[in-house]
Amino acid sequence: MTKIGILGGGQLGMMMAEEGLRLGIEVAILGDSAVAPASRFYGYRYRGPLIPQTVRQFVESIDIITFEFENIPLNVLDLLENEFADKCCPNITALRIFQDRLLEKEFLERCGIPVAPYKQIVEVAEIKEFILGSANKEGANKEGAIIKTRRSGYDGKGQIRVFAKDLTSRCSKLTDQCSSLLQNSPCIIEEIVSFDEEVSVIAACGIDNLPVQYPLIKNFHQEGILRESYPDSSLKEYEAQAKEVIAKIATSLNYIGVLTVEFFVTPSGLIANEVAPRVHNSGHWTIEGAHTSQFSQAIRATAGLPLGSSEIIGYPWMGNIIGSVPDKSKILSIPKAALHLYGKEPRAARKLGHITAVSSTLDEQRLIRNKVLSILKDCAI
Ligand code: AMP
Repeated sequence: MTKIGILGGGQLGMMMAEEGLRLGIEVAILGDSAVAPASRFYGYRYRGPLIPQTVRQFVESIDIITFEFENIPLNVLDLLENEFADKCCPNITALRIFQDRLLEKEFLERCGIPVAPYKQIVEVAEIKEFILGSANKEGANKEGAIIKTRRSGYDGKGQIRVFAKDLTSRCSKLTDQCSSLLQNSPCIIEEIVSFDEEVSVIAACGIDNLPVQYPLIKNFHQEGILRESYPDSSLKEYEAQAKEVIAKIATSLNYIGVLTVEFFVTPSGLIANEVAPRVHNSGHWTIEGAHTSQFSQAIRATAGLPLGSSEIIGYPWMGNIIGSVPDKSKILSIPKAALHLYGKEPRAARKLGHITAVSSTLDEQRLIRNKVLSILKDCAI
């Protein structure tokens, strides 16, 4: 029987492992924290930070390895590519590309997938040059730009917004912030996109390379952190473009596993912002709200098993629990609410769990959403 190893012990790894158990597949997880969400899982191994030596031992003990996060250290990726390429699912090329915003954008452009205009930068002077250059371009957003670290940024971390007006005033605090970001990490700068909404698409690619895609998901962020997600039929007109994007990525990378693309919806169509070579927070509603969850698809694809139906059930909605855990009895007194807690210590801006509700009508979905959000608001820190 195939034994799957998951690199990374966060909640995504934990939910994948739970699906493995359900399918009777042996799963082991290697994480870099003794108190990670997946440490509650019997197959969890903690051997300190992820370094080649401990990863080698782990991979030797399993048949196939998959990933719950893409920010795997480069020396570990080198080891996996050189010694265990046949065991990696998805392949290491995909991980290298999607852990680096510059490689990611270059790759998406090569595939003909629209992205916000961007440039690699190393000096503060280049910020002004980029924004002024954009301001002179027809059709460009003239407001400003976002500096993003190439690697390791998540939930809006490692990002600074610079507006055209900042360039004329002597805004030395901002200049200092930008120069310290640029000194510490390679960065890109990209135009601010004026979007109508943010959406994502999640698809699973099996060994036959035919992606099985969930409907487009509407996402709401606050302070760079995802708050709510739900599939929304009003996004139907963009499904074909999303399908094309998934097909292009899957084909050019010979991709096996679950894949997520986050987009901005603009009057000229979808603009890709980020790709995650894994299951995604915006797809947590699939546990109760789809015939096959994204976690089940990830385990199936990794084990070479047939993928399931991605058809949705009723009207699913998901809200993230961020910062502190609400009163359980309040949430559970909503009959259709499902509570998922990750076992993490409360901390401001930290994702501690999520709540899903699958409603029978849109009105019911609205009612439950409002109830859950008001409970979450009361416990926000
Ligand atoms: P990211 O880490 O790239 O996912 O960015 C976090 C959030 O910042 C996104 O969900 C957007 O709300 C916002 N954002 C990122 N890049 C841009 C952009 N180029 N234009 C406008 N908003 C952006």
